Amino acid sequence: MTFTLARRTARMNPSAIREILKVTERPDIVSLAGGLPSADTFPAQAVREAANKVLTESPREALQYAASEGHGPLREWIAAHVGRTQGLRCDADQVLITTGSQQGLDLVAKLFIDEGAKVLVETPTYLGALQAFTPFEPAIVPMASDHEGPLPAAFDAAANQARMAYLLPNFQNPSGHVYSEARRVALVAAAQRHGVPLVEDNPYGELWYDEPPPLSLASRWGDGVIYLGSFSKVLAPGLRLGYLVAPKTLYPKLLQAKQASDLHTAIINQRLVYEVVKDGLVETHVPTIRTLYKARRDAMRDALTQHFSDLATWQVPRGGMFFWLTLKNPKLDTLALMARAVQAGVAYVPGATFYAQDPQHHTLRLSFVTVPPDTIRQAIATLAQVFREGASS
Ligand code: PMP
Repeated sequence: MTFTLARRTARMNPSAIREILKVTERPDIVSLAGGLPSADTFPAQAVREAANKVLTESPREALQYAASEGHGPLREWIAAHVGRTQGLRCDADQVLITTGSQQGLDLVAKLFIDEGAKVLVETPTYLGALQAFTPFEPAIVPMASDHEGPLPAAFDAAANQARMAYLLPNFQNPSGHVYSEARRVALVAAAQRHGVPLVEDNPYGELWYDEPPPLSLASRWGDGVIYLGSFSKVLAPGLRLGYLVAPKTLYPKLLQAKQASDLHTAIINQRLVYEVVKDGLVETHVPTIRTLYKARRDAMRDALTQHFSDLATWQVPRGGMFFWLTLKNPKLDTLALMARAVQAGVAYVPGATFYAQDPQHHTLRLSFVTVPPDTIRQAIATLAQVFREGASS
């Protein structure tokens, strides 16, 4: 029997990354493919104690339905936290707890996108955002970008009648880029000029290894930026806990969309995360993640310099989880070469999947966080061999 599905389903595709991750679950594969944090960083003991406390002291509340906006004390903590770390001054009633920041992307899509609505994105951009936006049938307009983010001239050229622009200022997934101070100023000015709201996605901002990035876009235009944050990369992604900070005018519709979607985010997780963070764990824990990831970033940087200098170009990421490589030979297709790489025991993500249009097939994303330095060095040497052989065959 075939049933008639909604038109939007034609635009839903399996995530290429999830498909690849299936292969990489094999124990004989070194995966540089996943977008996962290192499980070594999860504060399991603190979560265990918090879970115990919550279920001992407030089991009736922790297991009951709860407010769609989220747990009050956690919203207060988030408002203070984004003030400290992002320069974003806001009230707790502008904070909406979401089921991961991925849900934030779905909610902003519901807020802004009708069929044919223009949505500006970076080139390349986060695949999960493209997946969240496309079912609503937008006209996605990729902006030309360099290592500092989208070009202000590209924003200007595309902004007429745009409904929103989706921006990743800090250590972007996949490219690792971070916007300079000047680029932030220019993009916010352009957005204000054209009256285009910005969606600022910032899951990696606290994972900086050299120096903190400049202040958030939202701190510069509180009335026009929806800021998305997440506990996935600073605590643990399995909690599925994210948040958005919205201008007061936009908050009620986002809240209604959230209600329709899942009523509220698991209150037990919200309460236990509040217990974990309330006495300053994030402030002591995040530096330990930085130390671990920086050593791995440096190992991959050195291995790439040794093995890839003649094969590819890249920028050393100053934070986040990824190196983004452009192979010098534009005829090499990293998707086609994936089978050989997996056969040689290493997985990566082919870059084409991160382009809204005109995929660049000779690009790839490498995660440096889940694998120890020695394994990184071996994997990079193996990959170089695969691409070298690919070039000569
Ligand atoms: N935005 C970006 C740029 C991401 O890389 C991710 C996770 N890979 C997300 C949003 C979603 O994260 P979460 O839902 O776990 O908060």
